[in-house]
Amino acid sequence: MALILNEMPPIAKCDVSKCGYNVNNGCHAKAITIGDGINPGCDTYFETKNHNRNIQRSAGVGACKVDACQNNQDFECMAASISVGLVNGQINCLTCVVKS
Ligand code: SF4
Ligand code: SF4
Repeated sequence: MALILNEMPPIAKCDVSKCGYNVNNGCHAKAITIGDGINPGCDTYFETKNHNRNIQRSAGVGACKVDACQNNQDFECMAASISVGLVNGQINCLTCVVKS
């Protein structure tokens, strides 16, 4: 299998324990995609009773469509790392800072 190595901001923490990629407050997808416009939701979230078995792998931000965020350049996240959690019942990037 060909591997594409890419530098991505890591997901430092995710509080959404019901997500299939979440084990012990860590995200173990290969990469996640965050929202669009001004909505920094985690598009990669899905709910299942079977969680990731490979917990050696840690996720990065593969793409982010929130161009309203200060950390976003050309629809890529330039933050050092991000955290994900619930905001008013929505699964959001907590590192998002909307440009004023
Ligand atoms: S960051 Fe998104 S995909 Fe990863 S565990 Fe949290 S909700 Fe799931
Ligand atoms: S910090 Fe901003 S640019 Fe990075 S993933 Fe979150 S919303 Fe997107």
